[in-house]
Amino acid sequence: MKKQTIAIDKSFVRPDAYGSLAVPIYTNVSFEFDDAAAMADAFTGRTKAPDYARVENPTVTNLENRVRELTGAAHVTGYNSGMAAISNALFAVVAQGKNIVTSRHLFGNTLALVTTTLMPFGVKPRLRDLTNLEQVEAAIDGNTCCVYLEIVTNPQLEVADLKSIAEIAHGKGVPVIADSTVIPFTETNLKSLGVDIEVLSSTKYLSGGGTSLGGLVIDYGTFPEINKRIKGDLLFNIGAYMNPYSAYQQTLGLETLDVRYKRQAANAQHVAEGLVDIDGIERVTYIGLKDNPFYELARKQFGPTSGAMIAIDLASKEACYEFINRLKLIHRATNLFDNRTLAIHPASTIFGLFPDRQLEQMDVRQTTIRLSIGLEDPDDILDDIRQALK
Ligand SMILES: *Cc1c(COP(=O)(O)O)cnc(C)c1O
Repeated sequence: MKKQTIAIDKSFVRPDAYGSLAVPIYTNVSFEFDDAAAMADAFTGRTKAPDYARVENPTVTNLENRVRELTGAAHVTGYNSGMAAISNALFAVVAQGKNIVTSRHLFGNTLALVTTTLMPFGVKPRLRDLTNLEQVEAAIDGNTCCVYLEIVTNPQLEVADLKSIAEIAHGKGVPVIADSTVIPFTETNLKSLGVDIEVLSSTKYLSGGGTSLGGLVIDYGTFPEINKRIKGDLLFNIGAYMNPYSAYQQTLGLETLDVRYKRQAANAQHVAEGLVDIDGIERVTYIGLKDNPFYELARKQFGPTSGAMIAIDLASKEACYEFINRLKLIHRATNLFDNRTLAIHPASTIFGLFPDRQLEQMDVRQTTIRLSIGLEDPDDILDDIRQALK
């Protein structure tokens, strides 16, 4: 079946007792067994029946199964946020004395995770320019546990050459973990580019309307030890599994993801092209613009769409604040890929607690506004931006 059919088609773990057409929400904690042997089989993994909802829940499993079929992954695990998915994927590979080869161009909390949270456990980040393959090659050594990157960084919109990085990493026996939040898995085939583990915040495109937090680890099975740690150890002992109500909302989101994404990406393309001609905007950063340095690479890796995140630069921080305050349609809010268009000044909010010197190293500028383009008519979005700049 084609992707959109898989996204819609029901794949209940067991038939629902009432034949519910939409996935039922199982909010219970435990599951009853017919006899002691069946109970022992389930608890020790000899059968696949759920036993306790911290580690398995039919509503979540249903979502995981659909994503597994859609991506061709070996294993998919749902978490209660994107950060939970990212931290658990990293917990599966780190150990004392190991290093993570990554970049300063990371989602703020992910950067803090690798530079601060993991530090006391003897895990060191190696922050490199991942667009420089020689730096990547030189950074990987016998203690490297993974190369970690974002397929399109936020808010810099830098695109890594996944195939080349994966070749270097795999040559040294090291897995590549990629955050794919910014372009959904319905659009890409990251496995074919050498990504071993895909992590993402399903809070974003999947939930769609900003309805629920969630995260996914999509494991292509190329480093089997990772799944053993994730499903056999971390799920039990960390306890960050997705909650069933989020899984329900995100299953509904998955059913319309492809349609929404394509429309949102088309809107973003239209808005980005319009922004180029507006006075007062000094720079438009969008990987779908032909003069963007990552245009060709992004096309090659992700196909004809370019996501719905755009960064614009104005003359100063004050100009950014004034612009944001004058918006009438576009919402002043964080989050990405809500159905509505959102604007934020990343340097003073998401990255507001980072010192200036670090912001500079991360290329998070005081003059940048991040836009997440929604499903409104794109001409109305452009009109709002024009009036706010007047
Ligand atoms: C939002 C986001 C995260 C974190 O996801 P949460 O669901 O908020 O925990 C991680 N990476 C990227 C690229 C994001 O945009």
